[in-house]
Amino acid sequence: MSLSLMERLHSGTVLGAEGYVFELERRGYIKAGPFVPEAVLDFPDAVRELHREFLRAGADVMVALTYYAHREKLRDVSREGDLETMNRQAVRIARDVAREGDALVAGNICNTWAYDQDDPATGQAVRAMYAEQLNWAVDEGVDFVISETNDYLGEALIALEVIQTLGLPAMVTLAPTQPGQTRDGYEYADACRILAAEGAQIVGLNCDRGPRTMVPLIAKIREMVDCSVAIQPVPYRTDAITPTMQAFRSPDGEQAFPIALDAFASTRLEMAKFALQARELGVDYIGICCGAGPHHVRAMAEALGRTVPASKYSPSMELHPMYRADISAKDAAFLPSWTA
Ligand SMILES: [Zn+2]
Repeated sequence: MSLSLMERLHSGTVLGAEGYVFELERRGYIKAGPFVPEAVLDFPDAVRELHREFLRAGADVMVALTYYAHREKLRDVSREGDLETMNRQAVRIARDVAREGDALVAGNICNTWAYDQDDPATGQAVRAMYAEQLNWAVDEGVDFVISETNDYLGEALIALEVIQTLGLPAMVTLAPTQPGQTRDGYEYADACRILAAEGAQIVGLNCDRGPRTMVPLIAKIREMVDCSVAIQPVPYRTDAITPTMQAFRSPDGEQAFPIALDAFASTRLEMAKFALQARELGVDYIGICCGAGPHHVRAMAEALGRTVPASKYSPSMELHPMYRADISAKDAAFLPSWTA
């Protein structure tokens, strides 16, 4: 019998995996710029395959690829007429793959770019967009809802209200793009405290920052709230000089975000260390966002002590011809120049 989200959180760490839009863009199925998940309708097998790769790598949650599948974004790419079929199909694909393992299915909503804290009418428009997306998601069958990459506490609170009307657990995470505050001026930890007080089951941060610059913020959030905490950083080597992935520049000074970030990528080993660090801090939901590949997720799962389906093919460098203990005399003689 499959455990619920809350049962899993009470009994240990939940491992998340996201970054579907970035990965499918790299594979040629989503256009960088609008980043609308048209692949859900145009290349459903590609979406299914990526879900399956994350499942095999140990992800506990299949997140329906409805990120940016809201009315505002579909209008940008002239596909507003596909809104309902795209949302329904995304949940169906996630649900079908989740059933191949023991994963939960999460509905997904995100920042809309339509919200303006000074214009109450935009709040109503955002609410309507979330409601239509999530009603379809509930109809197709989700276990909980992730509201993510929120820039504004105000928009996140609207998402939380809509999720609560559906009677589902809510995970609400903020995108820490700014040095310390949401765009409507709340310290991240304070914003999470408010979301928790309003009844979110999980609060935290996702996207924009890599582990090194996100972990200090999540430590403050962990101290501030009693509910579960989520962290889903991007696998990039952000630091004090370049705290977010948007801040990276190429050697020529050109902005690396979003399509030239490869040179700044974190290795699977770095993400494995991050997963352990997050667990030691008491983070309950540990995942990864834009830039993620299944190799990162498997390394994180294994660092957390799990053996997952893809572990069958985890590295065995002792079997590599040049690294094995019984290396031949011929290869041993060559080794110093091979690694020089
Ligand atoms: Zn992301």
